[in-house]
Amino acid sequence: MKVGFVGLGDIGAPMAQHVARAHELFVWARNGERARSFAGANDAVAVSTFAELIGSVDALITCLPTSDDVAALLAPVDDEWRPGQLVVDATSGDPFVSLTIAERLGEHSVGFVDAPVSGGTDGARNGNLTVMLGGEQEWIEKAQAIVAPYSAIIEHVGAVGAGHAVKAVNNALLAVHIQAAGEGLAALTKFGVDPAVALGVINASSGQSFVSERIFPERVITRAWPRTFRLALLDKDIGVALRVLDETGVPSAAIRTAREAFAAARAALGEEADHAELVKEIERAAGVEIR
Ligand code: NDP
Repeated sequence: MKVGFVGLGDIGAPMAQHVARAHELFVWARNGERARSFAGANDAVAVSTFAELIGSVDALITCLPTSDDVAALLAPVDDEWRPGQLVVDATSGDPFVSLTIAERLGEHSVGFVDAPVSGGTDGARNGNLTVMLGGEQEWIEKAQAIVAPYSAIIEHVGAVGAGHAVKAVNNALLAVHIQAAGEGLAALTKFGVDPAVALGVINASSGQSFVSERIFPERVITRAWPRTFRLALLDKDIGVALRVLDETGVPSAAIRTAREAFAAARAALGEEADHAELVKEIERAAGVEIR
């Protein structure tokens, strides 16, 4: 298939590298040099306008920060679509915005499947991401073939927006775990317990999570703080999850608390900080380093 890719960022670029090995890949970026250098290093063609990208492909993958970015990208090119084309949106997006995007594309007989990913930049590099598909059955087989090069698990979770909803709740749980583990481990460190020892016990016990197994041992205890997933993007995801909870009429006390903490950390640390750096804010308030 001829596949287009927009969003060659932290996770998008390694995803696109896998797509280039399986499909005929075309890339575009608003920063043209980013697309040209990607195409130079991979088996891909860089095009100079987004309209040209749509004209070149059977399907388009978008992997942008937010659904509003996707909507803004697609809106001006309404007349460029051909019936039967498919947009696969790998953005961790907003299901309610995606419903309006899908409706608009549907007027041109163009499909839309939301296809957010889980597994981080390591999963993207290794080509073993988990993908949550939300869309109508008629488009799912094509979407599966498009995302297969970077996926280990592909699950069709429901209609348009369902993939985004599952992803948002997943990331809200990640955020709650980071905050809770940061508070708990800061207290244990001040209590005189070696946090590495505490984590060993927790990881053999019922408090274990991805955060205690991977994030704290690899990023906090080591003080490595690599930038793989921006805190600003996780803050956005918690906001999407809250919208899903509000729209479905579900209480949201725990997730709302995490939202407040991440929004405050985003304001303090800026748009480029990594998601695990929330722990730095907890450490600062507690007057201790978890090490
Ligand atoms: P980055 O911020 O690293 O990259 C975003 C990319 O999108 C950049 O290349 C940027 O281009 C481009 N972009 C941003 N806005 C626009 C726009 N309006 N029009 C065209 N291009 C645009 O984000 P990530 O790659 O980390 O994340 C992308 C999506 O994947 C997000 O929704 C995120 O939540 C999700 N995600 C990320 C994970 C991770 O571990 N990083 C894990 C799972 C999901 P430019 O260079 O010009 O700014």
